[in-house]
Amino acid sequence: MTTKNTTAIILKVSDLGESDKIVTFFSEQAGKIAGIAKGAKRSKKRFSNKLEIFSLLDVFYVDRGRSGLVRIAEAELLTPFMSLRENYERYVSAALACELIHYWFRDNDADKNIFYLLLWVLQSIDKGTHPQLAQIFFQVKLYTLLGYRLNLSDCIKCEKSEQSGMRSVFHPGRHGLLCTKCSPGSAARGMVPLSLNTIKLLQHAQKLPMEKLGRLRFSDASIREALQLFKVYGEYLLQREIAAWNFLQ
Ligand SMILES: [Zn+2]
Repeated sequence: MTTKNTTAIILKVSDLGESDKIVTFFSEQAGKIAGIAKGAKRSKKRFSNKLEIFSLLDVFYVDRGRSGLVRIAEAELLTPFMSLRENYERYVSAALACELIHYWFRDNDADKNIFYLLLWVLQSIDKGTHPQLAQIFFQVKLYTLLGYRLNLSDCIKCEKSEQSGMRSVFHPGRHGLLCTKCSPGSAARGMVPLSLNTIKLLQHAQKLPMEKLGRLRFSDASIREALQLFKVYGEYLLQREIAAWNFLQ
């Protein structure tokens, strides 16, 4: 048994019995790991205020070599991201990002790009980026990295691009858009209406590097449409409800 060390973001914390905690984190070197922190509820010294959701830490843990919980030996706090736990809107958006990563990854499945994307979204919200907008940018990049890039260029059926003022619908099962002609009665089940404005903004977000996303200006209507799109798309792909969506307006 050797002690390992990784930089990690805490996705989830729950109590275990009188004195222990179970901590799930997403790490740079080893992906998602769940570990037991012995005495974390009592010991003021070793883990005090470190094992909180969203915290960025250096974690030292003992991998017992079987599938299951590792033992967290020590943690060094790098950034607490306090504002994410103190502000409701920030909290909900950060929690949604963490919940998605939790469901998308199995244990010990490392992905550095995803780790840095998650870190980026927490930093952005912490620095004051509109929490819902940061969430949209996060998910645009997330689905691209996961191999489910949204196809937003042309209609997936007739291959024509939309005229201005027209609306398209997003078809989650086909990862792309259907134009007005190809989707008669566009309120068809499971499809998400999108205005041309929203489509253009999402296309820009796909192309821009993360550090330039802050340039994009979404109207309230586009924010609503994009969030609805990602809610439907994510729940379709994961085939499950994502709890944090219920709290994001
Ligand atoms: Zn069409």
